Amino acid sequence: MPRRSLQVRPIVGMEIHVQLNTRSKMFCRCPVEFGSEPNTRVCPVCLGLPGALPVMNQKAFEYAVIVGLALRCQISRFTKWDRKSYFYPDLPKNYQISQYDLPLAAGGYFELPADKGARPRRIRIIRAHLEEDAGKNVHDLAGGTGVDLNRAGTPLLEIVTEPDLVSAEEASIFAIELQKLVTYLGVSEGNMQKAQMRFEPNVNLSITEKGTEYRTPIAEVKNLNSFRALRDAVAYEIRRQLDTWAQDHDYVLDKVGKVNCGWREELGRTEIQRTKEEVHDYRYFPDPDLMPVRVDEGWLGRMQDRLPELPISRRARFVREYGLNTAEADMIVADRPTADLFEEAIGERADTATLGRQFVNFWAKHANEGDTTIASLGVEATRMAELSRMTAAGVISATTAQTIAGRMLCDPRPPAEIARAEGLELSRDVSAVERFVDQAITENSKAVGDFKTGGKKSEKAFRYLQGRVIQLSRGSAPPQLVKTLLRKKLVDEGG
Ligand SMILES: [Zn+2]
Repeated sequence: MPRRSLQVRPIVGMEIHVQLNTRSKMFCRCPVEFGSEPNTRVCPVCLGLPGALPVMNQKAFEYAVIVGLALRCQISRFTKWDRKSYFYPDLPKNYQISQYDLPLAAGGYFELPADKGARPRRIRIIRAHLEEDAGKNVHDLAGGTGVDLNRAGTPLLEIVTEPDLVSAEEASIFAIELQKLVTYLGVSEGNMQKAQMRFEPNVNLSITEKGTEYRTPIAEVKNLNSFRALRDAVAYEIRRQLDTWAQDHDYVLDKVGKVNCGWREELGRTEIQRTKEEVHDYRYFPDPDLMPVRVDEGWLGRMQDRLPELPISRRARFVREYGLNTAEADMIVADRPTADLFEEAIGERADTATLGRQFVNFWAKHANEGDTTIASLGVEATRMAELSRMTAAGVISATTAQTIAGRMLCDPRPPAEIARAEGLELSRDVSAVERFVDQAITENSKAVGDFKTGGKKSEKAFRYLQGRVIQLSRGSAPPQLVKTLLRKKLVDEGG
């Protein structure tokens, strides 16, 4: 229904849980593994047995700080661990170790890429803190529900944003870019299928009608584990809240408060769960078994030095410095080792524009076919650089480059050698090409006739003859030379 007199502004914030890519759990030495036999990756610490003492995983802390730095947060010089108490079958200790009032990182921002010319959108980060994951209830057992505690104690980084996102689309772009960031930093695999990233958007609306502003109740949608579920759930909440408010103007935050919902993917809608616990329900208190963490300036400096150039700036630099278009830069930068390989090849005197095209056209294709990345194809930067130079210099055609690239995957020789050995180089022998042109003209009198009629038919016939010449030369005739000679024979000499 049209609501032209209304101004509606969605207000969306996010909580994101990112599983850190450590070998062992957050406070014990059990391995973090997906898909093992239930309850085989557990010990007295993550089972919460009496007397067991947790010890912080240094690597997890390091990874969390690197993300904090990448999100331009202030890193706390002093941080501690708190117990968050709640009772749930998958939480063996009846509390979760988390960080309450002193998170390890706070007050940062994350930039989203903008359309050409526009400034990047800045999404403010309230805080990022470490905590341990719970176990998992398994409902499909014969005879009832079981609990698998293999996941209990897995390190999670929770990132909380200000409600700066303005649409379902932007919420999903944020999630996608954040996934790129954490994989880029090498601190998480960001694999959704393994539930390594989970999203909890909180959504409400600012609705202005006849100069009065209404704020709808904030709905927090729990535990979304795909970009699509995130986008659909936020879009659904925006529609639902507007409709509910339209029927009842008392449907506002002050009167209703906050609500928690779950997303019912199969029904395409959210479902209200219990009302949100107040903070004091969790009875946070400092964990007496864990030492607070003091962050040393020298160590923090070393972490800062380890921070790579971030995807958004690298993409912009690839466009600026190497003349790539946005899609090319986006594709190459998405995987850090691939972007490194690209720059290494440029260092090896690659023809930049050709290399960019070849990355997108066929190196990416080979990577996709092998279900891997360009960097993992095993083709060295020097050889990629050489192939791009040969193409740019006209020694081989673009199509032949693609053929040679295919050979390079299992042939360690330099591309020039492969081209020579297999007779793939373009011919520099003009009279040889001329002979192929003559042959093509003699053998294709119908096309020659079509060419002379002029118009569309003529262009088509010309392209056909050109293709015949290249075929006769087995790909060795330089396309530009074929064009020139063919035109000369057909037009100037009257065929
Ligand atoms: Zn354990």
